Amino acid sequence: MKNIAILGSTGSIGTQTLDIVDQNKEDLQVVALAAGSNITLLEKQARKYRPTLVAVWDQACAKELKENLKDTEISVVSGMDGLLAVATHPASEILVTAIVGMLGIRPTIAAIEAGKDIALANKETLVTAGHIIMPLAKKCGVSILPVDSEHSAIFQSLQGNAHNKIKKILLTASGGPFRGKTYEELEHVTLEDALKHPNWSMGKKITIDSATMVNKGLEVMEAKWLFGVKPSQIEVVVHPQSILHSAVMYEDGAVIGQMGTPDMRLPILYALFYPNRRMLYAEELDLFKVGSLTFERPDRETFYGLSLAYDALDAGGNVPTVFNAANERAVAKFLDGKISFIEIPEIIAASMEEIYYKEDPTLEEILDTEAATYEYIESRW
Ligand code: NAD
Ligand code: MG
Repeated sequence: MKNIAILGSTGSIGTQTLDIVDQNKEDLQVVALAAGSNITLLEKQARKYRPTLVAVWDQACAKELKENLKDTEISVVSGMDGLLAVATHPASEILVTAIVGMLGIRPTIAAIEAGKDIALANKETLVTAGHIIMPLAKKCGVSILPVDSEHSAIFQSLQGNAHNKIKKILLTASGGPFRGKTYEELEHVTLEDALKHPNWSMGKKITIDSATMVNKGLEVMEAKWLFGVKPSQIEVVVHPQSILHSAVMYEDGAVIGQMGTPDMRLPILYALFYPNRRMLYAEELDLFKVGSLTFERPDRETFYGLSLAYDALDAGGNVPTVFNAANERAVAKFLDGKISFIEIPEIIAASMEEIYYKEDPTLEEILDTEAATYEYIESRW
């Protein structure tokens, strides 16, 4: 029996993680859950999985949930302290980080320090604090297991090849709903258009990130930290069918990749039971139905958010934090109908120009950079 805790249990990755728990009742036990404000679903989950602890970000929601769960033994906590308590729950062995954004940094660090393995979906954490998290995980002897489908595919393609040199990583991208569009066409796209991802059903923020291709930029940075490769060794390949989830090219030119249907439950399952493979009750990949797989170069001029990510990676220091924080704020504004789609990369580029540079930032300096970026954006947009 493996005890797990989940940050973001009511979201897309969180609910799919619980589906994996349902499929593996004998082997997985949920001990703690955290969510933002959806207490209706969180209460249902708490009654079904019987964790000893649940956290709700919003204080008023936490109070209400506490009242609703008073017939149970389940403790209800709130705010950052709540997230930290879930992340470090004494009985848990592995933490699934399925919350969105830089909010995940502190709980992830706390979990690593408490000796928990991390099933990492929350890529923004590695993008901004990878230089702190990766050495810390090594020091504490915990594993960072990727849940992002591309990184899981790369991780799977690395198995049995620890002593072989990687020539490059082929990081696949669907291209999102606007693949093939010109910049002029992007000027007129709506929020509704941007939320229609062709292959994956995901939370709103990552769906917009896929449409701008900023998601792929974040994933390039995530891959650098997870696999210790140079940015020049990470090649983004647009593959609209989302069947090849990414691949590794070795020195001899052999390309080893992982294929499957677009279903996040496979990477979640693999992270939870690594190094073992388990039965997944899901639709099987039917290559005859897929027919053909196609590959093309990304359009890095139209979708220049991807180029900005490589720039941020080259600049290093706190620049990836500026890139990420600016994107988080710009996407929130786009979701609120306050800015247009093409303003998202504009805001990122302007923030990268404006915000001060800091080499090798500490956690506090990362959070200061985030605050400075938000302040700058509020003053201009
Ligand atoms: P989502 O929006 O569907 O879910 C987010 C979850 O976080 C919800 O449970 C929400 O209640 C919780 N949350 C939000 N604010 C919170 C707060 N302040 N305190 C506590 N909990 C809070 O998001 P998602 O699509 O599941 O994405 C989660 C992470 O996984 C993101 O970093 C995303 O980039 C990454 N990811 C997602 C997918 C996917 O298929 N959805 C794929 C790869 C990576
Ligand atoms: Mg991905």
